[in-house]
Amino acid sequence: ILHVRGLIKRYGTVEVLHGIDLDVERGERIAILGASGSGKSTLLRCLNFMEMPTAGEIVLDDKAVGRRERDLIAVRQRVGMVFQQFNLFPHMTALGNVMEGLRTVRRWSAAEARARAEKELARVGLADKAQTYPAHLSGGQKQRVAIARALAMDPELLLFDEPTSALDPELVGEVLNVIRSLADEGRTMLLVTHELGFAYHVATRVIFLADGRIHEQGTPDEVLKHPRMERTRAFLASHR
Ligand code: ATP
Ligand code: MG
Repeated sequence: ILHVRGLIKRYGTVEVLHGIDLDVERGERIAILGASGSGKSTLLRCLNFMEMPTAGEIVLDDKAVGRRERDLIAVRQRVGMVFQQFNLFPHMTALGNVMEGLRTVRRWSAAEARARAEKELARVGLADKAQTYPAHLSGGQKQRVAIARALAMDPELLLFDEPTSALDPELVGEVLNVIRSLADEGRTMLLVTHELGFAYHVATRVIFLADGRIHEQGTPDEVLKHPRMERTRAFLASHR
């Protein structure tokens, strides 16, 4: 459903992604690993056009994505993103956060948006927190609201950028469990994570990024248990 060719991203004169080629088929779950600064977040942000690629082609569902505003809004609806820092609207309740995109982007009625948002909150186990503001939610609950908000838009592709890195250790499991349930439903996802055990069990493919390039990729067993490249081995050794 996603085809990336020669994706290059520069910030000023600094090139951060050096020509990424990536094909994602429906139902694939791709874990992206790499050291800090290797370009993981930049890659995800380019895939939903929060960042404009400098060069290269991104094809979603057989349609090359143009650079017009209208195209970009359409892409962002079809590619949901969940961030390390949740990015919830602090002045809105959990329900309000999940309803927001349905109201402003989809232009659903308040009643329709509310019904859908309640369903998505229930799916992540937060039906009873609908009227709670983010300041009164735990990190794990905030992240589950953020996942519900992404799901409400019915995305074809889900991008997770270190969704558990900001959480206290005891809250990581509840978020991983939600992501695992989405995996079990057959959702297509790209997941940047340092949770290697989770990646091993849930991913269908693992990509190791180094210096803005795909350095090694393969099945979880190939990359995580039998890495071919020295840098992959060194990275894994430092994340045990
Ligand atoms: P981390 O594991 O720390 O999140 P990452 O792999 O996600 O790292 P990126 O955030 O994609 O790395 O950053 C890749 C490189 O691009 C880094 O050298 C970073 O300093 C640079 N970079 C990222 N965003 C910008 C920006 N808006 N302007 C300039 N440089 C940037
Ligand atoms: Mg990052």
